[in-house]
Amino acid sequence: MTEKGPALQESTFSYCFSCENCTNVCPVVINYEKPEQVLDLLPHQIMRSLGLGLEELALGSNMLWDCVTCYQCQEHCPQNVKITDIFYELKNKVSKDCFYSTKSDEII
Ligand code: SF4
Ligand code: SF4
Repeated sequence: MTEKGPALQESTFSYCFSCENCTNVCPVVINYEKPEQVLDLLPHQIMRSLGLGLEELALGSNMLWDCVTCYQCQEHCPQNVKITDIFYELKNKVSKDCFYSTKSDEII
């Protein structure tokens, strides 16, 4: 289970107006003929999911884990949404959850 709460880069995802710039400049997305079939959610859809409170959906998307952290999306966002930083934060949440769940298994 993921921790709810702080940050997500100060909730800048709420400024997203779905222009799709982030998705159009992403080198990972460009790599596939039908990226939505491989990556589940595209960068702009991940921001949209967060805006709708569907964080678990974003966490399960292959896009999050295939991201190469190039910052192209963040640099091209007209709304200054901190997309790459948000991706980092989401991945860190999952890593922490895995770490603590492994630790508690060891204790038991
Ligand atoms: S570039 Fe920014 S405003 Fe446009 S869809 Fe992506 S996150 Fe939203
Ligand atoms: S940081 Fe990740 S999501 Fe953004 S453009 Fe680069 S690969 Fe795509």
